[in-house]
Amino acid sequence: MKKISLLGATGSIGWQTFDILLANPNEFKLVAFSAGQNIEKSREIIKKLQPELVSMQTEEAAGTLQKEFPHISFTYGEKGLVEVATHPDSTVLINAVLGSVGLESTLAAIRMGKTIAIANKETLVTAGHLVMAEAKKYNAPILPVDSEHSAVFQSMNGENKKRIERIVLTASGGSFRDRTRDELVGVTVKDALNHPNWSMGAKITIDSATMMNKGLEVIEAHVLFDMPYDNIDVLLHRESIIHSMVEYEDTSVIAQLGTPDMRVPIQYALSYPDRLPLANGQRLNLAQIGQLHFKEVDFDRFRALKLAYDAGRMGGTILTAMNAANEAAVALFLQEKITFLEIEECIERIMNSHNNIALPDLATILHVDSETRKTVASMVK
Ligand code: NDP
Ligand code: MG
Repeated sequence: MKKISLLGATGSIGWQTFDILLANPNEFKLVAFSAGQNIEKSREIIKKLQPELVSMQTEEAAGTLQKEFPHISFTYGEKGLVEVATHPDSTVLINAVLGSVGLESTLAAIRMGKTIAIANKETLVTAGHLVMAEAKKYNAPILPVDSEHSAVFQSMNGENKKRIERIVLTASGGSFRDRTRDELVGVTVKDALNHPNWSMGAKITIDSATMMNKGLEVIEAHVLFDMPYDNIDVLLHRESIIHSMVEYEDTSVIAQLGTPDMRVPIQYALSYPDRLPLANGQRLNLAQIGQLHFKEVDFDRFRALKLAYDAGRMGGTILTAMNAANEAAVALFLQEKITFLEIEECIERIMNSHNNIALPDLATILHVDSETRKTVASMVK
């Protein structure tokens, strides 16, 4: 039985993780979880899985639930995330919280040698070198949850990593994939949230529309698989059936396929190196699909992807600045305070004025992160 800590239990990934835990009571036991504001979903998880510790974003929310469940321990805020991540009984941390707020708790769990199943890509983008160095030092396996990286990981099973020629990340193109740049002027939040293939949290759905999501994933692949940026390609593939692939020196290409269902990579990260049956999983029927489409990516059309490659190649604090600018700008777009195209403009302006520091420590990263968010806020005022 694997004992689990889960960060971000009430989100899109967190809730699907809850589903997997419910379906496999003999395999997994939830010992601790964190949520943001969602009391209702937290209540349901508590009732069904009876964890020992729960952290809410605010003291007030924690207090409300404490009255209902006096036998369970409650905590809150950022220290609460660390307490959940480092719960002494868990051996696996699933990090499905949103944004760079997940960084310190991930590092704390790594230092306890826990296995980290990571969905929280912002953590790997903003501080990939720190996370991977600590993981190596403390012997903590880092397993990808992101579907593309899970596909790459599965396509590397049993292979000699030195024989890898390149990684190809597939991209659906997001909600605006069939529009030109001119047609992006004036698009609404509602349009942007309408993803063709995946149902996900709001922030990552907007990231998919700008393609910053694929940019973050290129950096995530560089960090997780230690692959140079010149050997990481992005390929447009509108059906999201091939989740990504790995090409080897002998020209063989190994890919992982399946119907788009995030429970597959989440469950694989939990069951690895084994596989478990997927409750109500939809089998892939290629004959019915008939055709798969592929197209080269246009970096002028998807400028955010180009910005991410640029930041990745530079390395250092520009990665933190880019990620924080994106998080702040997407939040402003969701509040309808800036337009869709201003998300990219904002990231570009932050990157152009950034004084890069190579190999930053944690304090520097946290400082750049918070300063960048302030700058973005002042740009809008
Ligand atoms: P959601 O927005 O759906 O969920 C985010 C979770 O984090 C919620 O539980 C939310 O709580 C909690 N949360 C948000 N802010 C804070 C905070 N400041 N402190 C504590 N908790 C907080 O996000 P997703 O599930 O879509 O994404 C989570 C991560 O997984 C992201 O890094 C994303 O890039 C990555 N990912 C997501 C995929 C998907 O299919 N959704 C696919 C691949 C990667 P509450 O709702 O209670 O307020
Ligand atoms: Mg992905």
